[in-house]
Parts: sequence; C-alpha cells; structure tokens
Amino acid sequence: MDHIIIRGVEVFAYHGVYAKEREEGQKFLIDADLECDTSKAANSDELEDSIDYGKVTQLISTFMIKNQVNLLETLANQLAVELLTTFTDCRNVTVEIRKPNAPIPVTFQDVAIKVTRGWHTAYIATGSNMGDREGNIENAILNLGADTKFKIIKTSNYYETKPYGEENQDNFLNGMVKLKTCCTPYELLDRLKVEERRAGRVKTSKWGPRPLDLDIIYYDDIIIDDENLTIPHGDMVRRDFVLQPLKDISPFHINPHNRLNTCEMLDRLTDRYIIQ
Ligand code: ADP
Ligand code: MG
Repeated sequence: MDHIIIRGVEVFAYHGVYAKEREEGQKFLIDADLECDTSKAANSDELEDSIDYGKVTQLISTFMIKNQVNLLETLANQLAVELLTTFTDCRNVTVEIRKPNAPIPVTFQDVAIKVTRGWHTAYIATGSNMGDREGNIENAILNLGADTKFKIIKTSNYYETKPYGEENQDNFLNGMVKLKTCCTPYELLDRLKVEERRAGRVKTSKWGPRPLDLDIIYYDDIIIDDENLTIPHGDMVRRDFVLQPLKDISPFHINPHNRLNTCEMLDRLTDRYIIQ
C-alpha cells in the first residue's frame, strides 16, 4: 500500500494536564501517515482521485485548536480516528504528536505519542426474543450505520430460532451483519453493549430473554480469549442460527481458530435450532 505523509504541522494549542499548559498554551508538532492506494490518482493525474494534503493539514490544525484534552494519548487517538473517518479511502492512519516544550524540569528534545488506527472487518451476530424483534435489530444496525466509526457492508436474512441454553422462553429472531469499523475489539464490544442497552436490555441470566443480543463473531483474523472477550465467538460452532446467516453473507470465510469455512462448520453441526 502507498503512503501520503505530512510531517511537522505546527499548531499552538492548549492541551495538557497542568493548568499552565491549558491557560498559556504551547507548540505541538504533528506528523500524519495515511496509508491508501494512490494508483487511481497516479493514472488520472487528477487531485480529486487522491487525498488533498491541503485538506489533511487543515483538518489537523482545526482539530488541534477546537478540542481541549489532558493527554497526548487521547489527542492522537481522536485525531487518527477523525482522519480515518474523514478520508475513508485510507486503510490506516498513523499520527505522531510531539510536545517540544512540555513542562519537564530537564533538558530534552520532545515528548511524543504515536498511534496507528485502521479499518477492520467484523461480523456481528444479532438476536432478539422480546418486543419488536426485527425492529430492535434493524434499529441497532441503523444506529451503527449512522456512526462515522462504522460502515455496514452486508446483512443476512433473518431466521426464526428455538431458544438456546435456557429453553423456557420465546423464540428468537437471528441474523448477521458484516461491517467495517475503526474501533478496537474492546471498543467494539462496549459500543455493541450501548446498542443492547438502548434496545432496553437489562442484566439477566446468561442465556435469558433479551430485546437485543449483539455478539462479535469475527474481527479480521484476530484470536482473543480472555475473561471479557472471545473472538472468534466461542459458541458459534454449535449454533446453526449463527452459521446459517453467516453463510448467507460469507459462505467461504475461514474461521482463524479451527481453519474451517462457514459451510464446513455448518455441515458438522448436529443440533438444529432454526425452525424451518
Ligand atoms: P450470549 O451472547 O452468549 O448469549 P451474553 O450476551 O449474556 O451471552 O454474554 C455477554 C458477555 O459475553 C459480554 O459481557 C462479553 O463480555 C462476553 N463476551 C465474550 N466474548 C464475546 C463476543 N465475542 N461478543 C460479545 N460478547 C462476548
Ligand atoms: Mg451476547
């Protein structure tokens, strides 16, 4: 992939933990590296086919002045996301912010934070067995689609499903969404929980009734297994109501954990929950 690089944008701004920094301000130097495909612009020789670095520098300087935060970490993260969500043809953005005059009582060149943020592909299983089931799911998809950190790519059919785990409850409606996001896996989990709460979900038993359940099935080819998050989703290989809608949108996608594609996992299933 190609890179559009801007170095040393100088901005006088008012970020910092100390009152003096917030009141008197100081110099910040910003580098940005935008990873994108420049071949279209190279062939057409038209600016509109590329990313206008005048606009990039303008965004950086406006952003640095408009928002006031304590930490360079916050600033670099927010600026990288702002660049990614504005110049959506970029796959990855790296931002480095330097403070040459940070209030430290020793001689030094500068302090800096460098972050890289990018677009990732995630698959989200959707489920509901309370209230307007389809409306709850559709609403959440609309809300995510309206958030600049998300792009909805594909949605599956819906399936009527017998409850899993705890049988004494109403049938579910289940589906799958493929999306792009610049959230990290843990940010994505938190963002999905916001949608679940918006739909009226309150804490219940693990497999109990809920107006909305949003589970991360895949996030690129990442494998995570800790107390808060398991990706690929641990139970997906036992659930036809996950694998069937996944097959609608990605039949040959390989599960990075067991190296099987969606059709192969579906073929190996013994229990059926989808009501034909
Ligand atoms: P289930 O979706 O299996 O019916 P819950 O929705 O009640 O169960 O479980 C929610 C918890 O599961 C979340 O708080 C989250 O920390 C954890 N979890 C682990 N892996 C995932 C994942 N891939 N997607 C969503 N939640 C997950
Ligand atoms: Mg869940």
